Amino acid sequence: MAQVRQDNPRQPEFHQAVFEVCKPIFAFIKDKPRYHEYQILRRITEPDRIIAFRVCWENDEGGIEVNRGWRIQNNNAIGPYKGGLRFHPSVNESILKFLAFEQTFKNSLTGLPMGGGKGGANFDPKGRSDHEVMRFCQSFMSELYRHIGDDIDVPAGDIGVGAREIGYLYGQWKRLTSLHTGVLTGKGQSYGGSLIRQEATGYGCTYFMQEMLASRGDSIDGKTCLVSGSGNVAQFAVEKITELGGKVLTMSDSDGFIHDPDGIDAEKLAFIMELKNVQRGRLSAYPAVFRKARHHAGKRPWGVPAQLAFPCATQNEMSHEDACTLLTNGCIGVSEGANMPSELAAIDAFLAAKILFGPSKAANAGGVAVSGLEMSQNSARMRWKEQTPQELLQQIMRDIHERCLGHGGTRDRKFTNYVTGANIAGFVTVADAMLAYGIV
Ligand code: NDP
Repeated sequence: MAQVRQDNPRQPEFHQAVFEVCKPIFAFIKDKPRYHEYQILRRITEPDRIIAFRVCWENDEGGIEVNRGWRIQNNNAIGPYKGGLRFHPSVNESILKFLAFEQTFKNSLTGLPMGGGKGGANFDPKGRSDHEVMRFCQSFMSELYRHIGDDIDVPAGDIGVGAREIGYLYGQWKRLTSLHTGVLTGKGQSYGGSLIRQEATGYGCTYFMQEMLASRGDSIDGKTCLVSGSGNVAQFAVEKITELGGKVLTMSDSDGFIHDPDGIDAEKLAFIMELKNVQRGRLSAYPAVFRKARHHAGKRPWGVPAQLAFPCATQNEMSHEDACTLLTNGCIGVSEGANMPSELAAIDAFLAAKILFGPSKAANAGGVAVSGLEMSQNSARMRWKEQTPQELLQQIMRDIHERCLGHGGTRDRKFTNYVTGANIAGFVTVADAMLAYGIV
């Protein structure tokens, strides 16, 4: 850890992610000398490649704007680099390195042949016209296309990169290369996208909670739930939770959260989807339509009493204090839809209380898993009916849960530390492949 801090100064998110992953792995590899001899952990924490580039584009007023783009190719030991692109003003190298590092273990956990990568830009699509977003995406891809390919590196969406942005990015890729391949995932249905990809992360995170509860003979049915975020992951988590009989009390965006004591049912969710995806509006508009609801400006939803929590917005949105409040209010399970939403101290509080805690690299792996299925369909020049990816997603989430039990369960099966389980299970496959390659 000292070496990681020294080699990566001023990158707190990256340090946090490495610490979270390595803590359980240190104990696991203690009596496995080959991993030490070949410096596997040290090598995994050093990305294979960091690509940074200028993105110049013209705004609607004819002014010239300059942003910075990145692609972090972290590790391709078990397959082509794979991971999303994030467009958000907070994006920097530390955040993308943490995401690429986490992605390496997450992708391995899915059981599919995918390495880990991540990328993005410090560009804020909020308030930009469609044409501005298009020009930005075209300029971004004009550099990125040199570094990606369907057997090299396959980006997808993330915060700020949804169906619209993937369309513009893919259009520019196709124009520059004259190719039509599976180089991006999350594509539209009319040009190579997989059914269920859009829903996969939110559904998968809910399935993971269902698996954790089932291991204690319980279910989501009848439980009160808190969801944060109102983007892609949050929307489909709410849809699936509701379908499974849960009652969702909250959703949020970067301005605050809404609390609807009657629950956010399918009709209310349709309103939110229209508001966020089409009108690109703010959640603060919700109580004007659904009168019993309240908007709490600048606050997070974790103070509302509920049994289950699904953080689905962004990193570090759950502090130690938030975690303690959830526990005091009787929360029995947390399934992380976002990447690293809980601070390390919050995770420690959940584990000490022995509640069901599904860390992001296990709980939100459904998105990249269906991206992997999209790659398979593109390579085979086929398009599966909805049932196939839907069933495979459920099976993959069940398998991930099993792998976590394998490495994180106590002998008497009374408690599973899913953090330990997910990190070790994800590590072993990547590490064994690296051992096979020798020192490269
Ligand atoms: P979206 O851009 O669709 O939605 C993000 C949501 O989080 C929005 O509601 C946004 O609010 C809110 N948000 C963003 N930043 C902040 C912040 N700093 N404080 C409070 N709220 C914030 O992104 P996704 O739903 O795709 O991604 C959400 C999380 O899930 C991310 O951590 C991402 O890495 C992770 N993830 C996503 C996958 C996917 O398939 N999309 C796969 C695996 C993980 P606002 O509307 O105000 O911007």
